[in-house]
Amino acid sequence: MKYYSLNYNSKSTQFHEAVKKGLAPDRGLYFPESIPQLPQSFFDEIEKMSIPEMAYKVIKPYVGNQILKEKLMEIVTETLDFEFPIIEITDQIAAMELFQGPTLAFKDVGARFMARSLGHFNEKSKEKVTVLVATSGDTGGAVANGFLGVEGVEVVILYPKGKVSEIQEKQLTTLGQNITALEVDGVFDDCQEMVKSAFLDAELSSIGLTSANSINIARWLPQMFYYFIAYRSLKHLNKKLVFSVPSGNFGNICAGIMGQKMGLPIDHFIASTNENDSVPRYMETGIYDPQPTIQTISNAMDVGNPSNFIRIQKIFNNDMVKMKKTLSAFRYTDQETKEALKEIYDLKGYVADPHGAVGYLGLKEYLSQHGEDHYGLFLETAHPVKFIDVVKKTLKIEVEVPERLNSTLSKEKESIPIKDYSELRAYLLN
Ligand SMILES: *Cc1c(COP(=O)(O)O)cnc(C)c1O
Repeated sequence: MKYYSLNYNSKSTQFHEAVKKGLAPDRGLYFPESIPQLPQSFFDEIEKMSIPEMAYKVIKPYVGNQILKEKLMEIVTETLDFEFPIIEITDQIAAMELFQGPTLAFKDVGARFMARSLGHFNEKSKEKVTVLVATSGDTGGAVANGFLGVEGVEVVILYPKGKVSEIQEKQLTTLGQNITALEVDGVFDDCQEMVKSAFLDAELSSIGLTSANSINIARWLPQMFYYFIAYRSLKHLNKKLVFSVPSGNFGNICAGIMGQKMGLPIDHFIASTNENDSVPRYMETGIYDPQPTIQTISNAMDVGNPSNFIRIQKIFNNDMVKMKKTLSAFRYTDQETKEALKEIYDLKGYVADPHGAVGYLGLKEYLSQHGEDHYGLFLETAHPVKFIDVVKKTLKIEVEVPERLNSTLSKEKESIPIKDYSELRAYLLN
């Protein structure tokens, strides 16, 4: 498989090179030259395969022969080494928990796959790589955890000061070793812009920069696994499957749509956003008009200009009619989100997190216009404890902190404050 740049001004490249670069030299996102098609036999036998076997078959055509069979199997097995429970909320709605990994957010899957792939490439080349990543909350922790101790890889995380939860901050500022956290006086989009500028900076090319945001294909593509895992569990229902995906940078939902294009029988996708609603507005007006980030209680989705949206447009060749057949988009306020948290709790005693609650709202809205032959999942993208203040206040309950978080929470935060790109640059050149 080759990957080309969506700015169309860089040479196509192989998986390894695209992962190492993150962003193409012309600053475009990489996109596969074709979308592989899975044979009918794959779907007929899906329930008989183990999850790693299935995931291997899904990702193999994207990796090609760049990672040997046994190694790739090992990577997917380690990546998916936890549960993905599906919890029934009503007879038509379930939550799919993607947060059972080490940092309690769905980004563990992409981060682990990327860290292991890059670590593997590095074993052979011995070149140093610096992973630069902007986080609106959960990416930082997942990437830090995935890359901790990986030889030859330095990780630099940019996060917006005062705009991530306490647990999130601890997860990315307490690991030490090859992980450094830069605390940016700004919002997430400022962090994301700085990362993009660093990639453009000729003087930085000598330090081997790559990105671990979902712009990196090794972070983005493995997110397809969730949708295949869900289908594998729910195939027997014989219903039209619908996914509502709490969306910020639109990497997760875009991966799901790729899965559908590979043949996965999914009827519809719903992009559920908070008030950072560039995509819902685009779907209404046909004009893509990104706005500055607004701070909300679902902070991992506080993204004014979602970087993966261009990939979604590419999948549909910029055809809005086709896009609307597969994708709907809805936005919700913080107030609505809190009410949804309560509603889910009242229905089943289930404690959702604010991101999942936004997903629930989008799903409910879509299903209210569609028949009973539909079955919907909203993705629970983070453990509620990561947003403990909001959840406690809204539901008036205690939320237990999982054991595996305690050691992180007891450590001291270590970060370097920065204000602008020149300070990031100075740091990297040192
Ligand atoms: C990152 C994140 C999202 C948004 O995912 P995208 O792929 O950026 O759209 C949603 N919820 C949580 C909890 C996240 O960490």
